[in-house]
Amino acid sequence: MFMSETHDYIFSYSLEPKDVAEHPTPDLPDEVIKVLFKSLLDLVIPCAGDKEIKVDGFKFLKNNQVIHKLFTSIEKKVLSPEEENDGQEIKAALFYEPRIALIKKWLENILALVELEKDGEVVAVDGFRLKQLEHWTVPSEGDPAEVFEHAATRCNCNCVFCYNKGNPPQLALKSLPLSAKEELAALKTRIKYFNPLAKRSLFLNLGSCGEVLCHPYILEVLNLLRSKTNQVFRLNTNGSTLTSTTVSALAQLKPVFLDISLNSASPLRRAKLMQDKYPQVALESLPLLKAVEVPYAIVIVPWPLDSEEEMLADLEKTILYAEQHAAHHIQVSLPGYTKYFSEQEIFNREKIWAGVVKQVRELRTGLSCPLVIMPGMYEENLYAVIKNQPEVIGVVQNSPAALGGLKKGDVIRNINNISIHNRPQARELLSFIHQNEIKTVHFTVERDKGTTEIKLDLSRYAYPYYEYTDAHLGIIFLGTGFRTGYLEKLKEIIKLHQAKEVLLFTSSLVKPTLEQCLKESPFFGNGEFNLTLEVPANKFFGGNIFMGDLLVAEDFIYGIRRYLNKKDSKLDLIVIPSSPFNLNQWGRDLTGRVYLDIERETGIPVEILPCTTIYD
Ligand code: SF4
Repeated sequence: MFMSETHDYIFSYSLEPKDVAEHPTPDLPDEVIKVLFKSLLDLVIPCAGDKEIKVDGFKFLKNNQVIHKLFTSIEKKVLSPEEENDGQEIKAALFYEPRIALIKKWLENILALVELEKDGEVVAVDGFRLKQLEHWTVPSEGDPAEVFEHAATRCNCNCVFCYNKGNPPQLALKSLPLSAKEELAALKTRIKYFNPLAKRSLFLNLGSCGEVLCHPYILEVLNLLRSKTNQVFRLNTNGSTLTSTTVSALAQLKPVFLDISLNSASPLRRAKLMQDKYPQVALESLPLLKAVEVPYAIVIVPWPLDSEEEMLADLEKTILYAEQHAAHHIQVSLPGYTKYFSEQEIFNREKIWAGVVKQVRELRTGLSCPLVIMPGMYEENLYAVIKNQPEVIGVVQNSPAALGGLKKGDVIRNINNISIHNRPQARELLSFIHQNEIKTVHFTVERDKGTTEIKLDLSRYAYPYYEYTDAHLGIIFLGTGFRTGYLEKLKEIIKLHQAKEVLLFTSSLVKPTLEQCLKESPFFGNGEFNLTLEVPANKFFGGNIFMGDLLVAEDFIYGIRRYLNKKDSKLDLIVIPSSPFNLNQWGRDLTGRVYLDIERETGIPVEILPCTTIYD
């Protein structure tokens, strides 16, 4: 039975009370209070007045002579693989709803001290369930993907590069396998509590790990969701289920946008790369989608299967196939793997990535369909002398930008009489214009060493442009770029600490742009403090991963120790961008560990610099 009397799915978790007989101690009540207090400090920051207080110990009122240290040895906040089956979704709850993990810990410790009773009889308990689920909704984007991505629990392909094969066992993202019926019950409950207007939903999801469209009940789920929201369904799919029946069903659910992992336009190579039994289904879906005007992006992971030459030749054919069928845009996702995927080097990342980027840039010049590299900053670091430029690298066909005459290579200098200095500024202004239904936009762009004036009529557009997903009027940039406002915030943090020696962590992708922005910024370089940039290694994921957003607390601790050993110098402050701890609202990394552990382990003040995850 997984439904409650109120017809809600029961979110339940197991309890394993401590076996006190094994470690008898007269101080057990004090020990339990220590555990409760310590675990609470992973969820709250104590304050005095409006100041945050860092707490590392406490005294009992009964004996204020003794200080009890809390963080002498930091226990790892990750579960071992053996603990994976420890209750329903508790591993994932550590990450996205750590209050449930806290309740579990508290109950287990309290049950070491007391027994529960009903009508004078001891009641044995071995688990707990969430009561009144409305209390368990959290602020969210109000995006329906928060619900339907919970259906992405399985996959009907088996890609050679599947990232699920390279997940470390300690990753806090895994949920227990449930039957499709039980998942449907949970999904229906999620739909019930999903409130797109109030922007609240039950426990946020962290992105799909499998193929959402191969869930047996997905169409029922999407139809129920459609009765609740008119927002676009943006679905990541491998395309293997996109038969004419599914495409027609999706067309009834508009607005819908698909990101299709096609990977190859050759049935043979797609079958080899993805173990897709019926590769034609995905390939033939593109004209079907066009016929019913469901826009889609084509995603390609160029994996050097057989040889680099074969990969590049196939990449070109696949890009041309996507363009021929009016893809909204084509995204080439540069391939990577963790040490759990392979301990041996599978390919030389720099060589493969540079070869793919070179080919993409050559192809881009002749394409009418926008072609982007993921991560865009890699291409920018290789080719752009000036970073963070508001340069147009493509325009969606039939978009206001394309019909108005914006072109690849244009550098935007002015929008509606506002001077544009960098890419994030251009993107934010365009999003504002898009949201506010402004009808005409004037651009000044740099083109062929001169300037050109362009006027866009925002009421003129057609397929595959999609007003639901195109926040920038059809203009495609080389990624999000670096918001210079972060530097102002950084300066504030340093000032607040009156720090003289500051270490700022960054990633090798962001570092070149960050260095340029620091040079240009009026807030830095006046000798008030020393700011050192450091790039920690992705030791936790290993392999050829080098993304800042995939760093975990352990990587930063290692990076700090390595820096101190190398420099033998004192540090007053360490600043860490929030993005590796951004995926939930509780400052956890991908293993469920809180960022506060970094300061607890190193003894150096750590501050988080709020910044958004760079997705493109
Ligand atoms: S389609 Fe996605 S989830 Fe499925 S095997 Fe391929 S990479 Fe993995």
